Amino acid sequence: MATNAEIIAVGSELLLGQILNTNARYLSMELAEVGIDTFRHTTVGDNKERIAAAVLHACAHSDIVIITGGLGPTPDDLTIEVLAQLFAVPMVYDKETFEHIAWLFRRAGKPMPESNSKQALRPAGSSILPNPDGTAPGIIWTVPRQLLKTAGIRHPRRTRLIIALPGVPREMTAMWKATARPYLEKTFASRVIWNCKLRFCGITESALAEKFADLLQGSNPTVAPFAGRWDCYLSVTASGRTAAEAQQLAAPVVAEIRARGELDLYGQDDDTLESVVGSLLASQDRTLAVAESVTGGLISHRLTSQPGAVAYLGLGITAYDNRSKSLLLSVSERLLDRYGAVSAECAQGMARGIRELAGATFGLAVTGIATAKGDTDDKQIGLVYIAVAVDGNVTVQKRTYPPVWPREEICFCSSNDALDMLRRRLLQ
Ligand code: ATP
Ligand code: MG
Repeated sequence: MATNAEIIAVGSELLLGQILNTNARYLSMELAEVGIDTFRHTTVGDNKERIAAAVLHACAHSDIVIITGGLGPTPDDLTIEVLAQLFAVPMVYDKETFEHIAWLFRRAGKPMPESNSKQALRPAGSSILPNPDGTAPGIIWTVPRQLLKTAGIRHPRRTRLIIALPGVPREMTAMWKATARPYLEKTFASRVIWNCKLRFCGITESALAEKFADLLQGSNPTVAPFAGRWDCYLSVTASGRTAAEAQQLAAPVVAEIRARGELDLYGQDDDTLESVVGSLLASQDRTLAVAESVTGGLISHRLTSQPGAVAYLGLGITAYDNRSKSLLLSVSERLLDRYGAVSAECAQGMARGIRELAGATFGLAVTGIATAKGDTDDKQIGLVYIAVAVDGNVTVQKRTYPPVWPREEICFCSSNDALDMLRRRLLQ
């Protein structure tokens, strides 16, 4: 049977809702990559009996139990104590850990509080996972069957591996990467998981699932559709004895999705619309200028968040009122009077104007209404026009986002649709 794991998050703040349990999410994703199934997430407060009950339950059902939190020096940090008591072993003092903690305080030029020496204790039989980032060391412990019986598990068929990691996410991930994950890979991973996400926009998750229905039936690789905040993606996952073997299994399916995805497929894994648009502009040696009204500079901000954007983004301005639209972008007052600032004509004029002003290959412009103030009789909140100018051509698209959407969502989706319109134009 495949190896399985449970994750126990310790901390009353988690139960009070003051902190989101991001550690469980991180560890589950990591375990999946190593090929270990996560069977259960548990969250318990800083309470000895409840932590002990959670650990006992997890040990009764899973091969690996990963605990995060409760390793600190304060009285409410109970994890190590609970583990020693549960399996009835003494706590032993780890000299090296103590010296490391003392050194951290010396380096910081502070006296070491007495309570920190508690962090040099570990249950007898366990080993220390060093903490390069903080004082709380982790522990890793293969609990023998005899001790499992002592704790009350009736017929343990196998030993259990307990890993205790700090609660602070930065320290937890550092320790996980440096020691815990490599150990699990070496000890348990018989198969390596390879995964990639193929990202789509301009198509809904259900339409995507229908379009690729035949591929969703496979078992290795598996293909599954997911909806993101505004895009959707197909997650392709293969397992093999090596990473290369897994990737080879996935390759034909990935190639098929790419071929059938056409223009709706905009990227893979961590790609974003701005990174994809930036790469296309750079590789085609073309330049861009952006004029924004409703999005207030969001498109420029997204584009300039990409390293090297100076190679293709010449100018980005927020032309918010009519005066700046006509003064900076040469949108005539007559046009503004006749059609209004939220119109296809104005968007076209802005795109043409910014392109000429910057001497760029493309001019991209957005104008729209995101809140009640801009709402007029015949123009609803959510009405947005996007225009792309290139050479003598200007194309314009109209969007009507739901008027109930918050302002932020209308602006965000407008920036996506603008970047996507340009992306499609770049691929023509
Ligand atoms: P410390 O030495 O800081 O006391 P610790 O291992 O005892 O570390 P906790 O006291 O349980 O960890 O948590 C410390 C902080 O780490 C919390 O206040 C919280 O900000 C963060 N944290 C703890 N558990 C989680 C979790 N499951 N997900 C995300 N953040 C967490
Ligand atoms: Mg703590």
